[in-house]
Amino acid sequence: MRLFRAVGRIVKGTWWLLVGIVTTTKHLLRHAITVQYPKERFEQWPRFRGRVAMVAGDDGGHKCVACAQCIPVCPAACITLERHREEGVKGFIVDAYVIDLGLCIYCGLCVEACKFDALAMIPEYEMSVYDKAELVYDIPKLLSRQLEPEFKR
Ligand code: SF4
Ligand code: SF4
Repeated sequence: MRLFRAVGRIVKGTWWLLVGIVTTTKHLLRHAITVQYPKERFEQWPRFRGRVAMVAGDDGGHKCVACAQCIPVCPAACITLERHREEGVKGFIVDAYVIDLGLCIYCGLCVEACKFDALAMIPEYEMSVYDKAELVYDIPKLLSRQLEPEFKR
């Protein structure tokens, strides 16, 4: 009786050992779903939304007209706009337009709200910095980019 029990345990143990080996081998031979970042990078989808950026106008400057429509829609309250009026000039003059990307939640609502297509979500997502003050993007930083979006609103 004891012998049967011992043989049964050996057979059962060997079976589960084989199941483990087969499972491990299957995973070893499977196509990897990760990439060796940062040496390799996934290709982004055309609608991928990285960070928010300002869109350059024909003159190379920004297209913002300081209407402030993007300010109240921002759930993170991370947009700062400074503007003034000048006599004889229609509309506002932009003094400063700043987005704190450290607070931004990348929702894209500001882009949706901007009737002047002055903002866009661009496919840049590598923005790690040691000093969070560097995440405060002013106009030149918001205009600069490495990647242009393939898909526009
Ligand atoms: S909604 Fe557009 S144009 Fe108006 S302040 Fe914001 S970025 Fe500028
Ligand atoms: S993407 Fe969202 S959180 Fe970021 S600045 Fe625009 S509205 Fe605010």
